[in-house]
Amino acid sequence: MTNSTRPIALVTGGSRGLGRNTAFNLARKGIDVVITYRSRADEAKAAVAEIEAAGGRAAALELDAGAVPTFPAFVAALKQTLQSTWQRNRFDFLVNNAGTGLRKTVAETTEEEFDALMNIHLKGVFFLTQALLPLINDGGRIINISSGLARFAVPGSSAYAMMKGGIEVFTRYLAKELGPRGITANTVAPGAIATDFNGGHVRDDADINRMVASVTALGRAGVPDDIGPMIASLLSDDNRWVNAQRIEVSGGMNI
Ligand code: NDP
Repeated sequence: MTNSTRPIALVTGGSRGLGRNTAFNLARKGIDVVITYRSRADEAKAAVAEIEAAGGRAAALELDAGAVPTFPAFVAALKQTLQSTWQRNRFDFLVNNAGTGLRKTVAETTEEEFDALMNIHLKGVFFLTQALLPLINDGGRIINISSGLARFAVPGSSAYAMMKGGIEVFTRYLAKELGPRGITANTVAPGAIATDFNGGHVRDDADINRMVASVTALGRAGVPDDIGPMIASLLSDDNRWVNAQRIEVSGGMNI
């Protein structure tokens, strides 16, 4: 594949965790990436440098995934980057991954916390995808990141999990409406993965890590390398007929 024919993916929240791992694995498969960051420009820059050192091509842009009014400026910056880095006007794969968590029960969750989650995980995903539709090539792919928590209930996850549930419905509608353009849409729902997410609790809290392992068929918590390669393979041509699906990637959590 020459550089001019390599597909381009946009991975939101590619500076750390699952998005960063996904970006590396896409690059390994010959897919160029634009990653976004919110607070960690340094990490995003390091990820771009690492991908480029390995022979890939990448760029990083700032995005607040929960701030819909900023999306026109983001789209303009993306267009400029596609043009200056790739001499293209469009990209191929959108991975809506960026996000934060909240560990509060129904009784504890404030309206502000609820709205923040809704803006990032639900409204932001809807309107960012809407804004990007004209830039995605026909035949492209969309992957929305949900969570195992949309299938099983863990106390303290209600507001977060209901947004993820909404994304799963959104994904099916995207698949239906974008089918005529040959664009597929699928949900990837990771189980509990050891990243910075939620203060790094799955990775750093030994009790939580043990609890996750005890309810997982494969007997451990997930790591980013359990997810990024799966997303990269879902975006390969081998999986072109997979559409409108929710695929849980959890090692068999709470089955
Ligand atoms: P991390 O905390 O490791 O990384 C979060 C990423 O999202 C970072 O790149 C961060 O950018 C970016 N981000 C956070 N808030 C915003 C925002 N408001 N606007 C734009 N970007 C933002 O989390 P994970 O990698 O673990 O999580 C990635 C996705 O996977 C999330 O959607 C999460 O809900 C989901 N998920 C995670 C699970 C887990 O156990 N880890 C399980 C199931 C689903 P920056 O670095 O600049 O701050």
